[in-house]
Amino acid sequence: MALIVQKYGGSSVADAASIKRVAKRIVDTRRAGHDVVVAVSAMGDTTDELLDLAHQVAPIPAPRELDMLLSSGERISMALLAMTIHSMGFEARSFTGSQAGMITDSHHGSARIVDVTPVRVREALDEGAIVIVAGFQGFNRDTRDITTLGRGGSDTTAVALAAALNADVCEIYSDVDGIFTADPRVVPNARKLSTISSEEMLELAANGAKVLYIRAVEFARRHNVLIHARSTFSSNEGTYVLGEGQTLPHNLEGAAMEEPIVAGVATDLGQAKITVAGVPDVPGKAAEIFKIVAKSGANVDMIVQNVSAAATNRTDISFTVPKSDAAVALRALAADQAEVGFENLVHDDQIGKLSVVGAGMRVHSGVSATLFEALSTAGINIEMISTSEIRISVVLRADDIMVAAKAVHTAYGLDSETEAIVHAGTGR
Ligand code: ASP
Ligand code: MG
Repeated sequence: MALIVQKYGGSSVADAASIKRVAKRIVDTRRAGHDVVVAVSAMGDTTDELLDLAHQVAPIPAPRELDMLLSSGERISMALLAMTIHSMGFEARSFTGSQAGMITDSHHGSARIVDVTPVRVREALDEGAIVIVAGFQGFNRDTRDITTLGRGGSDTTAVALAAALNADVCEIYSDVDGIFTADPRVVPNARKLSTISSEEMLELAANGAKVLYIRAVEFARRHNVLIHARSTFSSNEGTYVLGEGQTLPHNLEGAAMEEPIVAGVATDLGQAKITVAGVPDVPGKAAEIFKIVAKSGANVDMIVQNVSAAATNRTDISFTVPKSDAAVALRALAADQAEVGFENLVHDDQIGKLSVVGAGMRVHSGVSATLFEALSTAGINIEMISTSEIRISVVLRADDIMVAAKAVHTAYGLDSETEAIVHAGTGR
């Protein structure tokens, strides 16, 4: 008998029929003899709808009240799910985040979990109940207020519960079959991975892959929680995300055999490029520029500085930020133009970022050559390059990103013979 934590995303509980399907799955797990704790997201697009409503009544909704509002989405789905399980003849008990002991800091809208005290969860389990916990929310001890964990936070709820309860596995259900070597909507013959290391998963998630949330993967890595990302719509095995030194349960050992150099290709169309042109090439200018950008709150990703022109001793510095941060960064830089002494600013939001991630890069050479070769053969121009120990990223024209992703995917031998099945819309 194992203790299994399951997380169901919004698309898995979008309506009564879906809730019944999920309930059946939970009951089947219980019937197999396991203890089950479920973290559940709000139904379908509930969170977005509640956010819309809030903005209709107030231009800048009060953060405390916004959390009161948004946390209600998960309370609806948890109660409906518990009722459904009841009607199937099983004991089920739902708890809000605070009842379940999800203690967070006081940061409304993006609270971090600081402690989990699942006393009532354990009691309910001991009494033989299936436990349903509202995802995405917690409680701060100082303010005594309800908090939310940020969009997609139910993944983190599930992993944190799994860690606190010392669960055998944390199953994260969504409408995709697992972690793929690329987004199947971009690369149709992407392949489902049976395992991926948590460090690779973190790099993929940080660079545009949307299957799992970064915070949840980080939490799992820190607390040694085994994640199994799988689909609500099939009973197939999904993808196991393995932390350092973590191994698969014995019955699944065969799955860990494959160890490709490259685990996957991620694409991100959410970034913009800002070029600060004609910067005097003297010490301290980069520091000035990035201090201004940092103060604006914009989150810088890639940076490139050109060789300065001999005639003018001026250079161009380009960097990327999330599209939503571009305006504040540009405004801040423009305000200090005279002081820094640069010539002008160029804003370009038609870029795409492509990243190749693989732990095998540490020991294999030629990984970047394969990437550049594939792009060159496809006739695609590279605008920026950055690397980490296990990742190479390039910035391209946004229009080129689909063709580039397919070409690169093929070049690393990642293509599967069949097309991946995409069940529903969003991947969540
Ligand atoms: N309902 C929240 C959201 O849509 C949390 C979650 O789905 O994980 O972001
Ligand atoms: Mg959601």
